[in-house]
Amino acid sequence: MKYHLVTLGCQMNKSDSERTSTVIERMGYRWTDAEEEADILGILACSVRQKSIDKVYTRISKWNHRKKDRNLLTFVSGCILPADREKFLKLFDLVFTVDELPDLPSMIRQYGIVTPASLQSPAGVPGAEKGFEPATGLEPKKNPAEIRRFWKINPHYSSAFEAFIPIQNGCDKFCTFCAVPYTRGREVSRPSGEILAELRDLVEKGYKSITLLGQNVNSYGHDKLGDEIPFHQLLEKIGEFGKRSGKDFWVYFTSPHPRDMSEEVIDVIARYDCLAKQIHLPVQSGDDKVLIRMNRNHNIDRYREIVRSVRKKLPAATLFTDIIVGFTGETDEQFENTCRLMEEFRFNMAYIAMYSPRPGATSSRWKDDIPLETKKQRLQILTDELIRHNRVYNRSLVGKNLRVLVVGEDRKKGYLKALTEGRLIVRFPSDDRSLVGQFTEVRINSAADFSLEGENLAIIEELNES
Ligand code: SF4
Repeated sequence: MKYHLVTLGCQMNKSDSERTSTVIERMGYRWTDAEEEADILGILACSVRQKSIDKVYTRISKWNHRKKDRNLLTFVSGCILPADREKFLKLFDLVFTVDELPDLPSMIRQYGIVTPASLQSPAGVPGAEKGFEPATGLEPKKNPAEIRRFWKINPHYSSAFEAFIPIQNGCDKFCTFCAVPYTRGREVSRPSGEILAELRDLVEKGYKSITLLGQNVNSYGHDKLGDEIPFHQLLEKIGEFGKRSGKDFWVYFTSPHPRDMSEEVIDVIARYDCLAKQIHLPVQSGDDKVLIRMNRNHNIDRYREIVRSVRKKLPAATLFTDIIVGFTGETDEQFENTCRLMEEFRFNMAYIAMYSPRPGATSSRWKDDIPLETKKQRLQILTDELIRHNRVYNRSLVGKNLRVLVVGEDRKKGYLKALTEGRLIVRFPSDDRSLVGQFTEVRINSAADFSLEGENLAIIEELNES
C-alpha cells in the first residue's frame, strides 16, 4: 500500500513532512510520486498564506472525487488556523496538529483501516495507544509535552546531504502581519540534548549542510530559562563538536529575530568553522513607525548595530533579509526609508513580498489601503536595488576560488549547481553526478544576477597535470 504527501509553506513544514513520512512508513506504507496510486493522501498545509489554503481546497476536492472509485484516506496537518481547521474537518478524514502526529497510527485504526504493518502483526497496530481521542477540537493544542513526542520521531530525510533540524516550535512575538503564533502556538524549545544527538547522527552519516529551524530561532531556551541553555551556547556546543569531529559541514539557522540577536551569537559564529557565515535577519521595513505598527519590537538603529557587528566580526558573511512592501498605511516617505535601508545595508538577498492580509493575523482587521499598483511599483524599485547591489558584490568575486557544496544539476544543460557557504548560487560545467552532495572548489569566471559561474578547480588541476 502506498502514500503520497503534499507539503506547502515554509522549511518548517518540509521538516514536519519528513517526520510524517517516518510515521506512515512505520505502518508499512511505501511512498509514491503518483497521487492516483496512493491509499493515504496527506497535506502539510500552511494557513499563513491564502494561496496555500486555496491549493488545499483544490487538492481535497480532487481527492474526494477520486473516493468514488477507490478506498482512500485523506488527512491534513501542518500550520492550520482554527477557522481553517473547522472547514477542513468537513472535507478530510483526519485533521490533526503536528504535535498529534505520533497518534496517527491510532487515528487510522479508529477510522477502521487495516494498515500493511498490522496485517503482519497479530498483536495489533504498531503505535496504537490506549485512550486515544480522535482529533476534532478547534483549538490547536498548546501542551509542550505533545510537541516533544513529535520531536522524538526520527525523520525520513528527503536529501542525503542536506537536512533541517527543528529546534523550537511556535512564536511569542505576535507581529501584526503574521498568523504563526495562532497556528503553531507559543514558543517551545526542544531539549538541547536531542538537537545535538540528531546533529551528531547527521554529521556521522556524512550530511554537509544542516539548518537549525525555528520560527524565532535565537530566542531558543527563553521558554525554559534556567533549565535550558541559550541559543549562543547551543551554537557553541555544535561548534565544539564540529572541531572535534574532524568532519566538514556547515550549520545554518533560520529565522532569527533582530530583538534576540545577541553579540554572543555573532561571536560564537566567528569562532567556529562549521558555523556558516551567512546571516538571514528579517528587517521587514526600513521605517521605525511601520515597525511599531508591525509590532516588531526593534527599530532601525538596533538593526544597524547588529549589521555593523556582523560586518566587523564576520567580514565574509553574506546578509539576507525579508521585507514587506505596502504594509497597511505605509506612506511614500516610509517606503523611501526602506529604499535608504537597502542602499545602506546592501543585502546579498532580500525576500521582498507585497503585503497581503493573512487571515487570523491582527493586521487583517485593518484596511489594506495601499493600492496593488503602488505595491507592485514598490516591489519593483526594491528588486532593482537588490539586483544592483547583488551585481556589484558578485563581480567582486570574479577571479576568486570559492569552496562550494554541489547540490544538484543546474537548469543550464551540462552544468551542476552549487552553493557557497554564504548560500550564493554557483554553476559550473560538469556532468559528474557523483559530485552532488560533495564539497569542491570553483574558480569564479563570471557573475550574473543572483548567480556566479566558474570551473571546478579539481578539473583544472587534472588538465594541468596531464
Ligand atoms: S517573529 Fe513575527 S513574523 Fe516571525 S513567526 Fe513570530 S510573529 Fe511571525
